[in-house]
Amino acid sequence: MRARSVLVVGGGPAGLAAAIAAARLGDRAIVCEASSYPRDRVCGEFLSPEIVDDLERLGAGDFASALRPVALSRVLVTSPSGARLAFTIDGPPALGLTRRALEAWLAERARAEGAEVRERSPVRAVASDAGGVRFRTPTDEARADSAIGAFGKRSSLDAALELPRAARPGRFAAVKAYFDAPPSALEADVELHLVRGGYVGLNPVEGNRIGLCALFDGEPTSDLAKLLPRFSRNPTLVERLARLGAPCGATRGLARFGFQAQRVAHVGAGGAVTLLAGDAARLVPSFTGDGNAIAVRTGRLAAEARGDANAYARAFHAELSARFRWAALLHRAFLHPLVFSALAPWLARRPALAPRLYAFTRGRRELDAA
Ligand SMILES: Cc1cc2nc3c(=O)[nH]c(=O)nc-3n(C[C@H](O)[C@H](O)[C@H](O)COP(=O)(O)OP(=O)(O)OC[C@H]3O[C@@H](n4cnc5c(N)ncnc54)[C@H](O)[C@@H]3O)c2cc1C
Repeated sequence: MRARSVLVVGGGPAGLAAAIAAARLGDRAIVCEASSYPRDRVCGEFLSPEIVDDLERLGAGDFASALRPVALSRVLVTSPSGARLAFTIDGPPALGLTRRALEAWLAERARAEGAEVRERSPVRAVASDAGGVRFRTPTDEARADSAIGAFGKRSSLDAALELPRAARPGRFAAVKAYFDAPPSALEADVELHLVRGGYVGLNPVEGNRIGLCALFDGEPTSDLAKLLPRFSRNPTLVERLARLGAPCGATRGLARFGFQAQRVAHVGAGGAVTLLAGDAARLVPSFTGDGNAIAVRTGRLAAEARGDANAYARAFHAELSARFRWAALLHRAFLHPLVFSALAPWLARRPALAPRLYAFTRGRRELDAA
């Protein structure tokens, strides 16, 4: 019997997880990725421990021994007023690992499972074709039985798939930089320094480097120096940046994204079904460091749904609604340094509460009753 074919648009963590899962189910997966591997990405590169379980389910649980991420447990949050909150994540540690390493490794895994991963292959259009989808790239036109849209925070396909962000782009921007410095240059494993309209996250990654990822609202830039006046209001951040010195390599910027829900599936004229995974469905507030784990989970769920939009929507909401709800709630407080400054001393007197709030953002049900 002919194998079912699935087109995966986008080869980030969601698309590659979808391809691995589809190939393991016996489907013929074709990933079209607009750029090529390896590549640096704008991301905090804090991997939530939940990703380990998700990667194990894809037969890729050995990523940690292959890529040697840094274990991250102790968290420090600071604000411009000098408020500080330190806590330790309950349970297994999170992992500091570059997207460059993770994605190149996942792409290799997808190919080893039998998926076809096409690089420099932007999908320009997806349309219905005899119960399946027909897609077009600059060099090719082909058919698949169904499609998974895993094209991230923004894509040229947004309008065609009627994603709300096509009409209302988000107001956030971000910058990524690395410093040649050991983990001991930080006071905690992960530091989040609040600034007006955003925050600066610092954590070590493999290779004895510390990654900086700043989220802010306003004019996008890839020039860290332009953000220093904004950062200068947080004294702990000023001290930390002085200690880290100049970034090594280029800094990268990312513009105009938001955290609103998009769509879980799109059924086009003629019945072409595209299931949306990862940031294409919804970007979880970045301070949670949960986006990659959610991308891998939704990629797998989309592959397992095999083009059934209702089954996918049910699985998506059952597994992720609590995670998104808590993250969105805390995001509002987190992005207002004044609110955080008021709450920090209160939270500091209740040492069990911050790890619990963190766990809520992971949708851990046993803690919902806490
Ligand atoms: C500032 C910031 C900090 C973050 N920090 C963290 C963190 O610390 N930890 C964490 O887990 N998450 C973090 N996230 C979230 C995380 O980066 C995302 O959730 C994750 O990248 C989602 O993966 P994805 O595969 O859905 O999308 P992406 O990784 O963006 O992949 C989408 C891919 O689709 C490709 N593409 C787009 N359009 C097309 C097309 N038409 N044809 C072909 N290919 C196309 C793109 O080239 C891209 O490779 C952060 C996000 C932001 C914005």
